[in-house]
Amino acid sequence: MAEYILSIDQGTTSSRSVLFDLDGKIKHIEQQEFNQYFPQDGFVEHKPDDIWQSVLSTLKAVMKHLNPGLDKVIALGITNQRETTIVWDRETGEPIYNAIVWQDRRTSKVCDRLKQAGKEELIREKTGLLIDPYFSATKINWILDNIPGAREKANNDQLLFGTVDTYLLWKLTDGKEHRTDATNASRTMLFNIHSQTWDEDLLSLFDIPENMLPEVMDSSDDFGICEPKYLGYEVPVLGIAGDQQAALFGQTCFQEGMAKSTYGTGCFIMVNTGKQALISKNRLLTTVAYRINGVTTYALEGSIFVAGAAIQWLRDGLRLIKRAGESEGLAMDTPLEHGVYMVPAFTGLGAPYWDPNARGAIFGLTRDTGIKEIVTAGLQSVCFQTKDLQKAMESDGVRPEVLRVDGGMVTNEWLMQFLSDILGATVDRSSVSETTALGVAYLAGLKAGVFSSLNTLEQNWHCDKRYNPKMTKIKRDELYFGWINSVRKVQS
Ligand code: ADP
Repeated sequence: MAEYILSIDQGTTSSRSVLFDLDGKIKHIEQQEFNQYFPQDGFVEHKPDDIWQSVLSTLKAVMKHLNPGLDKVIALGITNQRETTIVWDRETGEPIYNAIVWQDRRTSKVCDRLKQAGKEELIREKTGLLIDPYFSATKINWILDNIPGAREKANNDQLLFGTVDTYLLWKLTDGKEHRTDATNASRTMLFNIHSQTWDEDLLSLFDIPENMLPEVMDSSDDFGICEPKYLGYEVPVLGIAGDQQAALFGQTCFQEGMAKSTYGTGCFIMVNTGKQALISKNRLLTTVAYRINGVTTYALEGSIFVAGAAIQWLRDGLRLIKRAGESEGLAMDTPLEHGVYMVPAFTGLGAPYWDPNARGAIFGLTRDTGIKEIVTAGLQSVCFQTKDLQKAMESDGVRPEVLRVDGGMVTNEWLMQFLSDILGATVDRSSVSETTALGVAYLAGLKAGVFSSLNTLEQNWHCDKRYNPKMTKIKRDELYFGWINSVRKVQS
């Protein structure tokens, strides 16, 4: 009998189910997109049932590719869009409001008030996070305040809160398990990352009853049993982690100082800081990387809101290109001295600036500026933003020698070489494209006992291509100086 691990990768725009063999090789992938709702300016919602149905149909589609007598799924893992908030009725299972997505900005005024009230230090010290609508706490509070009767029900123990992992686990176990893992808990702004418990002071600050909150488990743990009606037989859920943490794990960044960067719609860099919850002086987030056998490993994280989305905008907004991949040929045909800078601050600037009011701009236009210079500047902006995070990390005392990369943009060879040149560091592209799903398959497989240790997993990691810097320091500094000047001009 051949054994497999099945990962659910529940993302912001689509859900995937990825089937891995016990060597970490992909056997099959199914993917389904679902609707996004934007009911008002700054509001972003999903229907919880759309999320669930898209997950269920990809799971069922994957199972069709297994031979019932010969193949068996021995464990399930769940990785998910983080921070997105769902509140549902404990009895009926019905969500009392749509899922409020991580990108949603409706609670920004509440966050401003908290900052004015001087709560930043308290929250940072306990949770490792900055006060921002991005995290779950103010979203839960919004639902309790705005849905009639919700607060009373919450106080009467009739409501449950979960991030998407928790909601999916609850559905897969037919309401038997209300649990999450430490990585997802660490993004709620209610979890004390040092004591690894829900924090009483924060619960009272946000007026959220503890009985709504899920039990926090290790990332590799016995979360519950998926009911036989879904996959045909009982399968234990043995791994849960937020998507960026799962990517770090899939890239096997297990040693202190190892870093990964994921280049998709946005870009998320994470550096393993070991047993130390390093508090950044440069507005990076401190977060749980993973928790195994009760031992917490921490990470520093930098989030860039616009990476691949800048290329999407050049394609769909400006229509300068037809396919994202065309950007590579245009950049190869453009001398680096073109002098154009694009700052894609469409929704403000993320780390390390955290300036929600900044907006995008293009600088350095001359009469001979054309499509290729602007497209090249778009690609370069992704690398300059990574450099900003590298510098922030360096001044916090963390200097990764190698950056392991993944995500949709990393097939762009020009981009990868320029990234290495601007960072002055080695960039390694992993041979597995689905590092997020792989990471949670590893977590589940560790619990199932099919992987004996982190060392075994490290040996599974293979480099598809390595990029070393070729640019002189003078050139690098000159190009980066131009970027810093441009960012300064868009800051509010
Ligand atoms: P997500 O998981 O966030 O939806 P993906 O990892 O699938 O994103 O990456 C898709 C993003 O990568 C898109 O924003 C697209 O513009 C960008 N992209 C894809 N291929 C290329 C390429 N060859 N060059 C530059 N950008 C690309």
